[in-house]
Amino acid sequence: SRQTDSSKEKLSVALKERQELVQASDSLKEMKSFREKLPAFKMKSEFLKAVQENQVLVVSGETGCGKTTQLPQFLLEEEISCLRGADCNIICTQPRRVSAISVAARISAERGESLGEAVGYQIRLESKRSAETRLLFCTTGVLLRQLVQDPDLTGVSHLLVDEIHERGMNEDFLIIILRDLLPRRPDLRLILMSATINADMFSKYFANAPTMHIPGFTYPVAEHFLEDVLEKTRYSIKSDFDNFEGNSRRRRKQQDSKKDPLTEMFEDIDVDTNYKNYSLGVRKSLEAWSGSQIDLGLVEATIEYICRNEAGGAILVFLTGWDEISKLLDKLKGNNLVGDPSKFLILPLHGSMPTVNQCEIFERPPPNKRKIVLATNIAESSITIDDVVYVIDWGKAKETSYDALNKLACLLPSWISKASAHQRRGRAGRVQPGVCYRLYPKLIHDAMPQYQLAEILRTPLQELCLHIKSLQLGTVGSFLEKALQPPDPLAVKNAIELLKTIGALDEQEELTPLGQHLCNIPLDPNIGKMLLMGSIFQCLNPALTIAASLAYRNPFVLPINRKEEADAAKQFFAGDSCSDHIALLKAFEGWKEAKRSGNEKQFCWDNFLSPATLRLIDNMRMQFLNLLSDIGFVDKSRGANVYNQYSHDLEMVCAILCAGLYPNVVQCKRRGKRTAFYTKEVGKVDIHPASVNAGIYLFPLPYMVYSEKVKTTSIYIKDSTNISDYALLLFGGNLVPSKSGEGIDMLGGYLHFSASKSVIELIRKLRGELDKLLNR
Ligand code: ADP
Ligand code: MG
Repeated sequence: SRQTDSSKEKLSVALKERQELVQASDSLKEMKSFREKLPAFKMKSEFLKAVQENQVLVVSGETGCGKTTQLPQFLLEEEISCLRGADCNIICTQPRRVSAISVAARISAERGESLGEAVGYQIRLESKRSAETRLLFCTTGVLLRQLVQDPDLTGVSHLLVDEIHERGMNEDFLIIILRDLLPRRPDLRLILMSATINADMFSKYFANAPTMHIPGFTYPVAEHFLEDVLEKTRYSIKSDFDNFEGNSRRRRKQQDSKKDPLTEMFEDIDVDTNYKNYSLGVRKSLEAWSGSQIDLGLVEATIEYICRNEAGGAILVFLTGWDEISKLLDKLKGNNLVGDPSKFLILPLHGSMPTVNQCEIFERPPPNKRKIVLATNIAESSITIDDVVYVIDWGKAKETSYDALNKLACLLPSWISKASAHQRRGRAGRVQPGVCYRLYPKLIHDAMPQYQLAEILRTPLQELCLHIKSLQLGTVGSFLEKALQPPDPLAVKNAIELLKTIGALDEQEELTPLGQHLCNIPLDPNIGKMLLMGSIFQCLNPALTIAASLAYRNPFVLPINRKEEADAAKQFFAGDSCSDHIALLKAFEGWKEAKRSGNEKQFCWDNFLSPATLRLIDNMRMQFLNLLSDIGFVDKSRGANVYNQYSHDLEMVCAILCAGLYPNVVQCKRRGKRTAFYTKEVGKVDIHPASVNAGIYLFPLPYMVYSEKVKTTSIYIKDSTNISDYALLLFGGNLVPSKSGEGIDMLGGYLHFSASKSVIELIRKLRGELDKLLNR
């Protein structure tokens, strides 16, 4: 070991010499002076001292002050220059993939190195790191998975957890684990970084750990609310208000599956009296607001207004997702003014973008060109674009929500918090005074919640439960009680029950072989199961397509005024399958074909499909395929055909659907000339009007599996597939001999199948063989 000691010493000396050499070089002069101007720079020695003296430190500071790029770098430089370079192993987590890459690239450039040398990154299925790497940026999910192999984080010297103010599920989960880990690793240093100043809560959580604040400077930012914007742009809002002569309230109630407190508030306001102080435009916008669609026309008009009337400076637009970004992108490209590429540079910025064009986003364009960035809330605090002078904010972000009572989950745009709105506005004042155009009335701003609810409190917990089990952290319930804000016990109970029902956990709450595999698939367990079954039963392509659409969104668009045509198009794809999922599958295959023959646009237009969504689904399919190959369920070298022997056998595809969607199952019961539908939890439900099954009176098969159930005026099941009892018997949940002894029960006796002893025996044998396939 003396030998390794001395080689380590040599390495540390070499690292120090190289660092000194590079830092003295002229090429880094400009970088250095940029870094020295950041507010974090002034706090460097104080920060290093605090880390040395305390195991845990909470750092807060205005976005852009240099937390992410500077603090980990300070540690790296310090370790290297104190000749501890060989033993230094710093990890910094990021909630999003893009920021992990972007920050690692930035620090490498600031150090005059290439990415993957001293500074690297690792995100799911992608990394740039080497044996030399001393500072690694990774997504929080990657670190959580590393904890499975190495619960003590052996060899990690410093861990920085970034963006904790966002209260993401993974971050909240990670800090529970870390708090338990700290006593076992007294030498490990933990630094929590946050943009807004709720540092106290985190400090308390870690036994009153010291906090440090980096004071930042931003220029004042003027703000305009919708009232001003409408006057300036002379834009007239289009909303349901126009189509629905004063009856929009009822309509809105029917459309909104999930109501946020604000929407509810507006429902209680009497349109005729309380709204009367507002102009027609504002009233319309309030109406439009309760729906989830952004009026992109208004966004376009505002951009145009700035470009015509305001001095130069980049524009940053906050939207809720890729769909809107790409729609607005198309719109702007066709715009008379902004569409001129010699004068305007329009760039998208989205969290799951496959590759980010790093430099373009951050670079200053030439003086005669204006940069317009269309971003999701990733630009709110993770990524700082310095030269932004104008911010356009619609005030919404996509957020999952979970209703534990009804077991409903949805991903919908909802109101941001006041803290987020403030943060977004601040993005305009980095280099000079700026302007923020808020495309919502002041009334709405005043009603926004102060902070956003932590993700752990508003999402289904099954993925998290699997993580807890795979990390062997004890019973889920007692572990989650230790959270910063523990989730609703009912939500925890539901999650465990579901995992048992789909066979991921056994009765003792331990992982089954299926559960083990699902732990390695960072997706909703039902979707993961569909992918596993699809690969085992050689229906891989359909499983990939349907899983990707479930994980992302449905590509069928619902035009309000051409609903019949849209329904007919979808029906055409479904054929006589009685399945929305098959319709989706055929539509995707048709799109692929159309794309190959250069006919994509027309095909999508004719069939009411969103090309942006289809492209994203296509991309996700590839990611899922890589996942399956990573965990050994697909061997790419064997070629795609091996895994697709039954891809065109629709009965087989429906069985795989059943495996993935169970226990989302309803019974179809004949009531005269029609069919009525029943679920176990809520009793009678209806088929969603947008489903291909909505107009069908009688179904060939006795059950229906579905993707999602939403509650509005009544409870609707969205996207359903008619399936046989055999599919359920072979691919559904646990089988239990029925109490009467004459058959098999599922879902605690809710589903009963009468069968003879020999048939039951046969089914058990087949199920046993199926389980063996998973037991690899
Ligand atoms: P914080 O984490 O405190 O929000 P950052 O460390 O991310 O701040 O950013 C500090 C500064 O570095 C900002 O001015 C930002 O614009 C700049 N910066 C960050 N990443 C890049 C990059 N990839 N290219 C150019 N500038 C960047
Ligand atoms: Mg940051």
